[in-house]
Amino acid sequence: MHHSLTKTFLALTTGVLLAFSSQAAINVFACEPEWAALATELGGGNIHAFSATHGKQDPHYIQARPSLIAKLRNADLLVCTGADLEIGWLPVLLRKSGNRRIQPGQPGYFMATDFVPLLDKPQILDRSAGDIHAAGSPHIHTDPRRIATVARVLAQRLQALNPEQANVYQQRADEFLHKWQEAITRWENRAKGLHGKKIITHHKNWVYLQDWLGLQGVATLEPKPGVPPTASHLSQLHAVAKQEPVMAIIYAAYQNPKPALWLSKRSGIPAVELPFTVGGNKQATDLFSLFDTTIDALLQAAGRQPEHGQQP
Ligand SMILES: [Zn+2]
Repeated sequence: MHHSLTKTFLALTTGVLLAFSSQAAINVFACEPEWAALATELGGGNIHAFSATHGKQDPHYIQARPSLIAKLRNADLLVCTGADLEIGWLPVLLRKSGNRRIQPGQPGYFMATDFVPLLDKPQILDRSAGDIHAAGSPHIHTDPRRIATVARVLAQRLQALNPEQANVYQQRADEFLHKWQEAITRWENRAKGLHGKKIITHHKNWVYLQDWLGLQGVATLEPKPGVPPTASHLSQLHAVAKQEPVMAIIYAAYQNPKPALWLSKRSGIPAVELPFTVGGNKQATDLFSLFDTTIDALLQAAGRQPEHGQQP
């Protein structure tokens, strides 16, 4: 293709120090599918995005496999969540990759949580309160407003790494953010009735969704963050669920559904599996459909909820 030849020529003549492939594309190594999807929205044909994890995997616990090290070795840009989400596996991969371009402090190192305010920062660092998320909850991508903020910064980063295509990235970012803002308005209108509804979640990984839609998280199936649900804790939750109207018990596609289903069966509260990220279910094929299907599932649960305290 003459177009990619031109790009290669421009890259060489301007002395850009990027390791361009023959297609002059930026190799993006994303830790999670949502960031690979965002990079693809912003980069189009100018990037190759690879995700280290898929929607049915728990991003807290990933094996630092040799295949991932090989992928990272060739990456021009690392896009991850940060805030310790990948602390169990990313530092090992970074060290073993031997790739200087994507080390902390380099332009090729991008942690999404560095650019948005975090919720749930612990007041006291107490390891007995659970074993993860000392920096605050890292699960920012469940709030599309925060995705918009990350998109703006990521677009700037792509421009800095590949200045010859800066105008293309800018145009794609403008178009994406315009469509994204329209979608946010649409989702917010659809989800108005969810405001103030109470939910129980498996892990505390929906705090940003809750913050966005005004949902109230009243309990988690995990007794402490990262600690699997126990029978005694679930029994306590059953008692809680009898006292206040809970709309749904939420779990992510990658989580074991059994604790949620156990509590649902005993309490009558619908258990709802949400995709959590792109690829978490068949419908969630990109960032837009991820939120479409998430709102669909929540509204369906709201429709199934018995109307506590309301007389017909
Ligand atoms: Zn978490």
